[in-house]
Amino acid sequence: MRYVKITNEKIYDFLERLKNYGKLYAPVKISDKFYDRKEIEDVREIAFEYIRTLMPAKKYFVSPTEKMFEIDIEKGEYKETLENIEPFVIFGMHACEIVGLRILDGVYLDKYPDIYYKRKRDAGIIVGLSCLPDEYCFCNLTRTDFVDVGFDLFLHELPDGYLVRVGSPNGHKIVDENTDLFEEVDKNDIDAFRAFEEKRQEMFKWEGSFDNMRYILELTMEDEVWDEEVEKCFGCGNCTNTCPTCRCYDVQDIPDIDGKKAKRIRFWDSCQFRGHGLVAGGHNFRGTKRDRFLNRYICKNAYFYGLGTSYCVGCGNCTYFCPANIDYLKNLMKIRSMTEVKNG
Ligand code: SF4
Ligand code: SF4
Repeated sequence: MRYVKITNEKIYDFLERLKNYGKLYAPVKISDKFYDRKEIEDVREIAFEYIRTLMPAKKYFVSPTEKMFEIDIEKGEYKETLENIEPFVIFGMHACEIVGLRILDGVYLDKYPDIYYKRKRDAGIIVGLSCLPDEYCFCNLTRTDFVDVGFDLFLHELPDGYLVRVGSPNGHKIVDENTDLFEEVDKNDIDAFRAFEEKRQEMFKWEGSFDNMRYILELTMEDEVWDEEVEKCFGCGNCTNTCPTCRCYDVQDIPDIDGKKAKRIRFWDSCQFRGHGLVAGGHNFRGTKRDRFLNRYICKNAYFYGLGTSYCVGCGNCTYFCPANIDYLKNLMKIRSMTEVKNG
């Protein structure tokens, strides 16, 4: 892997030049408590210190609502409505979200590539950014706190700038076309990089193992330990919307009011919604709130063989954004120790 350095004096020039490679999206502070990503005009607005955004970066690759095609019934015409996708750059993705995107790749690009997703994936440049965890982060447990592939450039904070890992041909192109911005890494930078990583590891609050969690969950689904948590849940779907790896969508055909034209759209769905498991004939595969609540835990803890991880990347968003204060990780830990006690 190639490593270069960019100093703090040049970082805003670098961000400005990223706009030469596409529309620039990055995190900005939108209130005392929240950050979100948006298209950047003024690069000094970018919030380097953010930990999580209201919506994960998946929204740039899987739109919350997407028109797939339309038909003109009178003329008998069918028209694909693929949006014109322009190149874009996402600055500031953390390691867990980049792994999340790779999990989505496994879903959308493997056997039957999804053209809507693929076109956006091909158009996007990913610039990662190192971070320090808060009390909600547990990517150290899901082994997604560091990422080896899936980015074009990855910036690691140093006292006087950033150590940059170059992770793709596009990353090399950006460095080669802007050599005046970069310099070689020296021993002080390597020491600072190592110190940052050590400090970061010490800041993680959680220890434990997720091994075999899915099976423990399946075996304890009926346990009364879940009762109170299920009762508290509003079924609002915040946890799935803010999850970097949740990917369920629904499809609807919507005719115009005069019945002459119609369009097909797809939009984000949530396993926490009552209608998610409802099928023709009125049967609901997840008819109770308990079914729906536990479905998310089991789905997230299934093993993704493509990457050797679970479908949870440990970002903590589902807990942070839950209006019922349901703590995903604490629930997992609770059920795990219960099972260990029982097995003991
Ligand atoms: S965000 Fe919380 S309240 Fe809403 S569906 Fe998820 S667990 Fe339930
Ligand atoms: S389940 Fe929760 S912690 Fe895990 S990836 Fe999704 S939002 Fe993040």
